[in-house]
Amino acid sequence: MDYCFGVDIGGTSIKMGLFSRSDGLLKNWEVPTRKGSEPTLLLRDISEAIELCLKENGIRKEEIAGVGLTAPGPVSEDGLLRGTVNIGWGDVYLGKEAEVIFGIAPVFVGNDARVAAFGEFTFGAGKEVNSLLMFTLGTGVGGGVILNGQILAGKTGTAGEIGHMTINPFETISCNCGKKGCLEQYASATGMVRIAERFLEETDKASSLRKLEKVTAKDLWDEAKKGDELALEITEYVSRLLGMAIANACYIVDPEMIVIGGGVSQAGQFLLDMIQRKYAENVFPHCRDKKFALAKLRNDAGIYGAAAMVFEK
Ligand SMILES: [Zn+2]
Repeated sequence: MDYCFGVDIGGTSIKMGLFSRSDGLLKNWEVPTRKGSEPTLLLRDISEAIELCLKENGIRKEEIAGVGLTAPGPVSEDGLLRGTVNIGWGDVYLGKEAEVIFGIAPVFVGNDARVAAFGEFTFGAGKEVNSLLMFTLGTGVGGGVILNGQILAGKTGTAGEIGHMTINPFETISCNCGKKGCLEQYASATGMVRIAERFLEETDKASSLRKLEKVTAKDLWDEAKKGDELALEITEYVSRLLGMAIANACYIVDPEMIVIGGGVSQAGQFLLDMIQRKYAENVFPHCRDKKFALAKLRNDAGIYGAAAMVFEK
């Protein structure tokens, strides 16, 4: 059983990867995600894509060690995927349904951010370490905890939901999750834009950001790198909250490495250094020298992590 599939289910497309135990990723492609339908139909689409790939590559089903699936919602340690708003599903044991529809077992399922962290752990930035904590700074803030070589899912699938750690109990605006003051409201791409707009409104300080019609997270970091004072103030502010959240998380799991991924992480070493500095200000001295790294696998972290769930178990 030398092959497996790593499948990353997203809101608009499903990323598929065929992996071999010896050679890693052999082929990757995408199929569109069906929306608002039962998971059964989506699993059938994946099943069709798998069958076609097997046929095209002359691989028999008996040679498949298993399938790894990501899902855009919390997955508990016993495999229950909780209602996923993005795709419009209720609670479902996705892996069990998938095994029947694919005619392949086992099928492992994990939350997308957790599985991406596992991808970085196995094939990317965390290849050399035994534990890591990953923060994905995108539209939201995703998180994943890898401990003792495994994804920490938790009893209800909530372990790793670092983006919804309360970082400001006095926030008056609601997060997407319904709470107020979540890290995601500050440190996601959308959160950074929100904070930038607030800073721009509250001061008269000159800034190159004022020349832009609409500020994006990328603009913010670009201008900070160029030395724009207000942009620097804003990036320091959001990095401070992020650094505090990372420090808080380290008081619980103390991993070997922190990985920062997601679209915002394309701001690169400048962003990584700033977050690391803010982290160090908020943690015990002996814990300050933790390794910080940028994610390496970008959009493929999900399929790599999904494949790793099969080959590593
Ligand atoms: Zn939240």
